[in-house]
Amino acid sequence: MNKKIIVSGMRPTGKLHIGHYFGVIQNWVKLQDEFDCYYFVADWHALTTKYNQTEYLRQNVIDVAADWLASGLDPLKSTIYVQSHIPQVAQLHLLLSMITPQNWVERDPTLKDMTKILRLQKEEGNNESSSVSYGLLGYPVLMTADVMMMNANFIPVGIDQVAHIEISRDIIRRFNNMYNTDFFVEPEPKLTQIPLLKGLDGNKMGKSFNNDIKISDDEETTAKKIMTGITDRSRLRKTDIGHPDECEVIYDYWKIFGCEEEINEINSMCSKGLIGCADCKRKLAQKVNEYFAPIREKRREYEKNPDLVVEILNEGNKKAEKRAQEVLDKAKEVMKMY
Ligand code: SF4
Repeated sequence: MNKKIIVSGMRPTGKLHIGHYFGVIQNWVKLQDEFDCYYFVADWHALTTKYNQTEYLRQNVIDVAADWLASGLDPLKSTIYVQSHIPQVAQLHLLLSMITPQNWVERDPTLKDMTKILRLQKEEGNNESSSVSYGLLGYPVLMTADVMMMNANFIPVGIDQVAHIEISRDIIRRFNNMYNTDFFVEPEPKLTQIPLLKGLDGNKMGKSFNNDIKISDDEETTAKKIMTGITDRSRLRKTDIGHPDECEVIYDYWKIFGCEEEINEINSMCSKGLIGCADCKRKLAQKVNEYFAPIREKRREYEKNPDLVVEILNEGNKKAEKRAQEVLDKAKEVMKMY
């Protein structure tokens, strides 16, 4: 029996952090055993907001792919490709843009979020490319083309993102109804429990907030960063009684990196004032470094040999393009195009 198809992508923002790893990649790795997975580096999506910051775009594509591969995405199981290398996506995007009502695009929650971010960046003077471009307005249509291009059954999302894929279902349904076909699948959300890993300052983890730990960081850098993590703010001396549940970063990390016994031990020692925060962080850094050691070792191999990453992407591009052409041909056929 044919496996159901999953499509998901990620913008090439540079080296990925451990929030990406736990929030997205780990789930992708699990899915590739059960589904026919298509994972793409969304470089055209990056241009919708960063069209004037392209100097690192190529390197960022390679960095993202290297992080995926080192983290366990397997090119023998999944098709790993670069969005801009599949010209059929641009053609389908154009066709879908003809049938998508303007008000659907304008009310899209993803677009609203991005527009808000751009406005804030403009107010803070942080981004010259802060106006909403024609390309950004079409973002939900391009996202739909990405998914419809592989005729995907599922899109992996967290519970708070379900509304974000509604527009893709609406556009595909409209396309099917308009051209009297049921060939194109309305993708469903594949819900996942995504553990939210906060940044070391307690805010959302992000490269631009300077509060992240990269998958590719070395051990020393990781340890240094963890020492800056916020803890129970009421604790001033190491003998003060601590409140692990109010230690919103370090103790939360323990819950991910420690085993049950270790988590209980930290909880008990902290609550009795038997461990200082510096010691607690040092132990945590060791756990984080142990966890990522094999991934980082593989990551270093890809870093030494970026041509291997490019080769894997080229193979994935070929596979994705073959499927994309079949789907595009079908779309043109039902539209009775010449
Ligand atoms: Fe947090 Fe550990 Fe300090 Fe307790 S000892 S407040 S768990 S960093």
